[in-house]
This record gives sequence, structure tokens and C-alpha cells, in this order.
Amino acid sequence: MLSLSPAHSNSKVFLESELAPELRLALSKLQRELGTSLYYTSGYRPPTHPIEAIKPKPGTHARRIAVDIACNGNFISCDTIHTYALKHFDGIGRYNTHIHLDLRGYPARWDKRTNRK
Ligand SMILES: [Zn+2]
Repeated sequence: MLSLSPAHSNSKVFLESELAPELRLALSKLQRELGTSLYYTSGYRPPTHPIEAIKPKPGTHARRIAVDIACNGNFISCDTIHTYALKHFDGIGRYNTHIHLDLRGYPARWDKRTNRK
């Protein structure tokens, strides 16, 4: 059973049922291999969400095939999640505080970190 928990107490209640079944399966595999809970910062975003609304077409969050997972905190490093995510996810994006994982159907990598060493 997937046990994603809100990373911030004020974040919107995370509804696992809002995510595509294949994404939930990939996340449960990732979580099992990591042996720890994952803390999301974003899951499904409706096309009207401010981040999605400015895109020419709905992004992977609006298609229910993406999540952002908090890292660089005191629970698990982004590098560790990245390593394990490689075999389960297509799109992997790195940010300062979270890692984006999606199932877009083809490999995609990007790095938006501003504090890279
Ligand atoms: Zn994302």
C-alpha cells in the first residue's frame, strides 16, 4: 500500500486515487525498494491550476502521471531517489527541494537546481 504523506502540514490533502494506476504501481515499487515513506510536494494538478494553465498543453501532472517528491530533507536524498527511480519512471526532473517523476512514455531528464556543486 502506498503511503505518501504531505510534506507540509498546510498542503492540500493528497488523494492517491487522483493518480493514474500505473503511476501508483511505480511509486509503490519505488517505495518498497527504498524502504521508506515518500513525501510528496505535488501530485495531480487540474488543467486550471496556475502552473498548468500557462502551459501550451496540459503537463504530466494534469495527465495524472506525475508526482513531485520532497528530498534534501532529513529523510532521503534526491540522489538516492533518482538512482532507484531510473528503472521505474520516464521523466525525471531535479529541483532544489524535490524530484519530479513521471510516466510520459519516453525518457526525459532535466535539472533545474540552482545550487549545484
Ligand atoms: Zn513535477
